[in-house]
Amino acid sequence: MDYPGSVEAEVHVTGRVQGVGFRPFIYRLAVRYGLRGYVINLGDAGVEVVVEGLEENVDFFVKSIQVEAPPVSEITEIHSTYRPYRNRFKEFVIDKSRNGKQAASGIFPPDIGICPKCLMDMEDPYGRWFEYPFTACAWCGPRFTGVRSLPYDRERTHMDAFPLCKACEGEYKNPLNRRFDAQGVTCSRCGPRMSLHDASGEEIRTRDVFVQAARLLNEGSIVAVKGIGGFHLAALATNDGSVAKLRARKNRPYQPFALMAPDLAAVKSFATPDVFESRALTSWQKPIVLLKTRGRIVSDLVAPGLSRVGVMLPYSGIQVMLFKRIKAPALIMTSGNKAGLPMTITNEAALSDLRGVTDYFLFHNRKIVNRCDDSLMRINDGQVAFIRRSRGYMPDPVEIPLKKGISFAVGTEQSNAAAIILDGRCYQTQYLGDTINLETLDYEKSALYGMRDLLNITRNPDVIACDQHLGYMTSQLAEVISQETGSQIIKSQHHHAHTVSVCAENGVKPDESVVGITLDGAGYGSDGAIWGGEVLLSTYFSFKRVGQLEYLPMPGGDLCALYPYRMLISGLTNVFSDDEIRDITQNHIREALPYGHRELDVVLKQSRDMNVLRTSSSGRFLDSVASLLGLTYMRTYEGEPAMRLESLAEFGDANQINYEPEITYNNKKYELKTQNMLKYLIKNKNILKKEDIAAFVQKYLAIGISNIAINVAKAEGIRTVSLSGGVLVNKSILLEITHNIKKQELRIILNNKTPFGDGGIALGQSCIALASVI
Ligand SMILES: [Zn+2]
Ligand SMILES: [Zn+2]
Repeated sequence: MDYPGSVEAEVHVTGRVQGVGFRPFIYRLAVRYGLRGYVINLGDAGVEVVVEGLEENVDFFVKSIQVEAPPVSEITEIHSTYRPYRNRFKEFVIDKSRNGKQAASGIFPPDIGICPKCLMDMEDPYGRWFEYPFTACAWCGPRFTGVRSLPYDRERTHMDAFPLCKACEGEYKNPLNRRFDAQGVTCSRCGPRMSLHDASGEEIRTRDVFVQAARLLNEGSIVAVKGIGGFHLAALATNDGSVAKLRARKNRPYQPFALMAPDLAAVKSFATPDVFESRALTSWQKPIVLLKTRGRIVSDLVAPGLSRVGVMLPYSGIQVMLFKRIKAPALIMTSGNKAGLPMTITNEAALSDLRGVTDYFLFHNRKIVNRCDDSLMRINDGQVAFIRRSRGYMPDPVEIPLKKGISFAVGTEQSNAAAIILDGRCYQTQYLGDTINLETLDYEKSALYGMRDLLNITRNPDVIACDQHLGYMTSQLAEVISQETGSQIIKSQHHHAHTVSVCAENGVKPDESVVGITLDGAGYGSDGAIWGGEVLLSTYFSFKRVGQLEYLPMPGGDLCALYPYRMLISGLTNVFSDDEIRDITQNHIREALPYGHRELDVVLKQSRDMNVLRTSSSGRFLDSVASLLGLTYMRTYEGEPAMRLESLAEFGDANQINYEPEITYNNKKYELKTQNMLKYLIKNKNILKKEDIAAFVQKYLAIGISNIAINVAKAEGIRTVSLSGGVLVNKSILLEITHNIKKQELRIILNNKTPFGDGGIALGQSCIALASVI
């Protein structure tokens, strides 16, 4: 038979097209345009479609793929070839994958926030999903958190405990239905259930657990809510009493709590998201975004002393149901865990971990297979700065320039994540917290091996990567993995790894030199000192330290991070006599150091000791200024002094203080000096505004360190400057450096796919290690 105007076409689509309802979407499009043929999953190579029919319809079909693709899919490339019509097909079919294992590599989607269609289903009083909190479809719902192994089929997920009812099964098998082949499909007849329990675990019988839970929250109670990736502690954010109670019970005096608001309008009642922030908030990933606050709608106790608060929107039906009954614009939604341990994920553990903290438990009977914290980010002029990259983003890989080989990296210690490189892609694990005890070390190992299994890696890695610091528990983990796999360990310097993480994210080739600025709290230096304000000349293979913040003594070592006044005193010892320092500090010393004057004498002596540990940490430097301004005398959470300094600086004008960065050049290394500048500030303290000092000091650091980088780049003929390190989450420091470097027509690259802080370091470690063995 001859069909005039008919053609056959083969279409290849690559990108995120697996696990997001892409093949049924193609099926529906083909049916709409009367085309015949098939769609097949090619695993890593994307999706292949072959259609035949009228050329005009084939054209429409191809265009519609791009325009109408499911919201969570991401099309990297569509390639279509037309050929003569052969009348080969009777209908359009979804072919099963050619190879069951193909779904394993690089294509497993992250957890997806509940979609608008499922939200509509939850509103329909006649439907099976009316107010049903586990409503999901092919485009939304848990993925990573619910999967035990691949391929991604229902029997290998947490949904295997809930056999489908007839109605659900019909939809699951119907390619024209939105729930076709969606492993999370369920309904109020066949799916998981919620239950409410009192503090002792006794179930509270009630007709509607959400009505009851919301009533308890409205009355000021704390409720532990089991969610998608773990437990949250929920409390009314508008009520000082609730927030104070939660702070007291968690023994967490100042660390900011994350908030959840029902919608963007509610967010805008207490914060001022710009267009980029609003877009991130409403994205399917639903991260926590740090937003500038306004007014006093939420309690001041939510984020004491800070101008920003972390906010997210509901991403599960459970959260949507709670907010239906809560009339406040925000709830605190902070991770539920035992201090120092990972987030709680089972009902049984919650009863013991959260005992004494929560008043009630809102449980469900669906298992959380993989723990996954909420992601946390800040957006500076449209640029994403991850603080925690987890739910919604992992296990999405980062493409890197090393196209061959496997490496495992364990990261460092704080806000840690591990990483695996497999053939040109880096897969970071979920956020692991601080890897500083056996429990968190176990968690890291299982997360790393879990990722290995999800990636279907069966051979041993070519190399294992860790930090040079012998004292890190993660270095011991590297040893254990090395023994289990027989693979060698390659250690890297902390700030070199930061720099290479930026290079890898941005496609810089392994042997290309960059000038790397790294500003952070602490990393073990090659000379045994604590580094953290560094300019490196770096490739993947090696680095040279060409600039630094000047060394200051760390009297009492780690105590300096806890009591920033120690660093302030240390910064004064070269420019003032002991008596002058006693004078300068005398009104504050009782508050600033636990043992007051007696401790001051010890600190002075330690600071003048030639053998005391030294640091070039920019974090410690900012901390010391925060304590000079009386913002924090004792750090109660990571980054607190510098965060308070930044919040104060927002009200100041750096240009009110004229003091050029003092930079020296000796032995082929630049140093940014800080002690004379501190002396100047102290001498003029009475005529300077605190806000201006705060703004000025940030600018001094930014301009000083970037001037060093510019000098090095010019001298070496290098075009690219990289930025990394946790301090760069600070917007004004980041933008000041960026602006200064761009003026010189240099290219600037930074972390925006992985965290600036140590949560992104495993990427750099694993690239350094792999580059050295392949
Ligand atoms: Zn949905
Ligand atoms: Zn059902």
